[in-house]
Amino acid sequence: MKQQLVRWGMSPLPRWIGRRLAGSFLPIFMLHRCTDDSGRPDPRQIQAFRDCLSYFRQQGYQAISLQQLFESMDAGEPLPERTAVFTVDDGFHDQAEILGPLFAGFDIPLTYFVITDFLEGKLLSWDDHLLYVLEHTNLESIPVTLPNGQDFVIDLSPPKPHRPVREALKSADQNRIYDWLDHLYDAARVERPEDIPDTYRPMNWQQARALIEQGHAIAPHTRSHRILSQLSDEEARQEILGSWEDLQRKLPGCSPVFAYPTGRNTDFTPRDRKIVEDSPLLGAVSTEPNPVQPGDDRYALPRFGMPTNLVDFMQYLDYIEVLKGKLRSLIN
Ligand SMILES: [Zn+2]
Repeated sequence: MKQQLVRWGMSPLPRWIGRRLAGSFLPIFMLHRCTDDSGRPDPRQIQAFRDCLSYFRQQGYQAISLQQLFESMDAGEPLPERTAVFTVDDGFHDQAEILGPLFAGFDIPLTYFVITDFLEGKLLSWDDHLLYVLEHTNLESIPVTLPNGQDFVIDLSPPKPHRPVREALKSADQNRIYDWLDHLYDAARVERPEDIPDTYRPMNWQQARALIEQGHAIAPHTRSHRILSQLSDEEARQEILGSWEDLQRKLPGCSPVFAYPTGRNTDFTPRDRKIVEDSPLLGAVSTEPNPVQPGDDRYALPRFGMPTNLVDFMQYLDYIEVLKGKLRSLIN
């Protein structure tokens, strides 16, 4: 039913009317990994992306980098029509090896947000440690004491068991989250790996440079992926400005745009937004799922998760999701 509606909505006349009603908008898409649980490339997901990108090209949409979007805003231009921005978060090896060439093959630039200490091999993001622990434990439930002293039981029976504990950890003190991981490994009776496990391997700096040569952009996404809203002022500054400095040292030609870790409105504060605004960074993105519209805050532009089926992609790419949002705000 939904599929037929969306396809009908994208036929010429409804689309013509819909676009006029929707006004100006631009979707920013966010991709993550394209591997399965065992770390191997996931052919179904990759094919789904290829189908979406083929449609994108056949229908004559344009893709620009996030930096280009901010530059066009600076020039006072309206949001470009029938245009989208594609971004990829964190900096895993598969994102360079699979997504880089896939998007370059369609002449679509990706903006990669990389965790700089991850690319340096100094750490694996705390939320990926959590995934690793839950994949490797033999326990059915793990009792832990969260960094704020609260007792919490991780139940491994539901399909995405990391979600409740990740949410709890996002609102706990994040200054010492990496030390706290020792407690998590102990409680789960999993040995903490000395090096980053192969399935979680980052891209290396050489791959990052090659991506820039392919036409993609690399931008900062903090040093350690800790939740900015739960950090001290100094730590938050180090995360944002430090990752930008690291990147400039390592990658001449990197892109001055920023993405907040995990990116929901509660994951960063006006303080963090101000740190970005007062820096040479041109703007930033969140993960609030909306299209960009005129008047949006350029230091917290929304992004949609990249759909893994064509009909959802059509819906988010064009006017349909914009009109849905307008209708929702009329009703509320
Ligand atoms: Zn991230």
